[in-house]
Amino acid sequence: MTADDARAIRVEAVESLLVEKGLVDPAVVDRIVEHYETNVGPLNGAKVVARAWTDPAFRERLFANGTKAIAELGFGGPEGAMIVAVENTPEVHNVVVCTLCSCYPWPVLGLPPTWYKSDAYRSRMVAEPRKLLGEMGLEVPATKKVRVWDSSAEARYLVIPERPPGTEALGAEELAALVSRDSMIGVAVAKVPAS
Ligand code: FE
Repeated sequence: MTADDARAIRVEAVESLLVEKGLVDPAVVDRIVEHYETNVGPLNGAKVVARAWTDPAFRERLFANGTKAIAELGFGGPEGAMIVAVENTPEVHNVVVCTLCSCYPWPVLGLPPTWYKSDAYRSRMVAEPRKLLGEMGLEVPATKKVRVWDSSAEARYLVIPERPPGTEALGAEELAALVSRDSMIGVAVAKVPAS
């Protein structure tokens, strides 16, 4: 059994105990999870990225104070008290991990995927980021520096991927559709539009 399995079993045991004692309604728990997966999910982050790509003044505010700029779009709340946006450039590729546990910017990305919480991801993204990114399907050119950000309870990071070529004519909604959750964690890049 991995540590993640053990944690899942513990969480389930705690939940069933709370339900049994009448302290928690399982339907409410389901609704909260669904809310974070769909409404609070990565769609919010994609909107932030699309705005940063198209609005230079917003982009400036975003890198000066991520939390504040993101709040302009109406996103904030639990697990998002301090969101730091980090910018991918032709020189630098950013990727986010939480080596201690699973800290993640909920207001813009929703709930963290299972692999983000795995022991392997948390240790290897620090020890051998290029190799792990390659295994996850992202080859970072040798000319590009890889910068790994370790999330904590205080600071959560949002990667702003590079705007793909050939997207000059696209509107905010079409741009947002190119931005996957994984590209905002930094284990992928933004999609190139189908021509
Ligand atoms: Fe954490």
